[in-house]
Amino acid sequence: MNKPALHLNLVVKDIADEMRRRPDRGEVASYIPELARVDPKHFGIAVFDDEGNLACGGDCDMPFSIQSVSKVFTLTLALGRYGDRLWQRVGREPSGSAFNSIVQLEYERGVPRNPFINAGAIAITDMILSGHQPREALGEILRFMRFLAGDATITIDEAVAASEQRTGYRNIALANYMKSFGVLDNAVDLTLGVYFHQCAIAMSCKQLAMAGRFLAHNGRNPATGMSVVNPERARRINAVMMTCGHYDGSGEFAYRVGLPGKSGVGGGILAVAPGKASIAVWAPGLDAAGNSHLGRVALEALTKRLGWSIFGA
Ligand code: GLU
Repeated sequence: MNKPALHLNLVVKDIADEMRRRPDRGEVASYIPELARVDPKHFGIAVFDDEGNLACGGDCDMPFSIQSVSKVFTLTLALGRYGDRLWQRVGREPSGSAFNSIVQLEYERGVPRNPFINAGAIAITDMILSGHQPREALGEILRFMRFLAGDATITIDEAVAASEQRTGYRNIALANYMKSFGVLDNAVDLTLGVYFHQCAIAMSCKQLAMAGRFLAHNGRNPATGMSVVNPERARRINAVMMTCGHYDGSGEFAYRVGLPGKSGVGGGILAVAPGKASIAVWAPGLDAAGNSHLGRVALEALTKRLGWSIFGA
């Protein structure tokens, strides 16, 4: 192993050790009953650097519910199908409100602020569903994840999907509200069915970090040489992750970590160090904004020690 890879390994192991010991673990999401059962003691981290070296620590092989991290990949898919026309349906400004907020939707006539708040992600899923059966749309999303991660074993946790389907009152309200403005093309229950299942995809930190590599390398996964999106699109997806990826905690994440990132209420975060690395962390306990508490703390430590913040040292 070369020197930078050794150093990366050391830093990642240190961080995993520290995170295992910390008492401040946040609160696991309880509005999805199945997620409330996850042990907040878990912590995992995986980093793929530009040369393909993998450094990982803690529970980096344990699959968890990727939840809203899936929104990065559905946005990528929908941009592939609709190109920039997508932005007529969904904005790309930070919301400054909670991930499941409905207030802005009324002011903005059902057009969600960005593709990463729940309303925006539901609108994007609706676009992917158009012209397909829900099963086909979901198959397309899952195949895309498996292709990006280079791993055909990735599946959907049906118990998590069913759990959210039973209790997803807010998302049902958001979707109905958008439908009333004509923002959704498909039946609300079909769009939500796909959305709940995409959120219930289970992946490990290793798989997620692998899947995110194209975003760190101008749209191309260096492991396969395959171009997923062009460099301009990768840059723009990263920009939306930077400004909107952590809901109303996006400013704090930029301030502390300084990388484009997308969180999920399962406690996962995918972060991208452009030109340098793709990083996935998982710590199920959340902060008040619904973002992984220790995930953010770990990423802050990592970018500090490696000088990876895009804003400089
Ligand atoms: N499935 C979750 C919801 O729609 C995703 C939220 C998140 O991960 O932030 O509420």
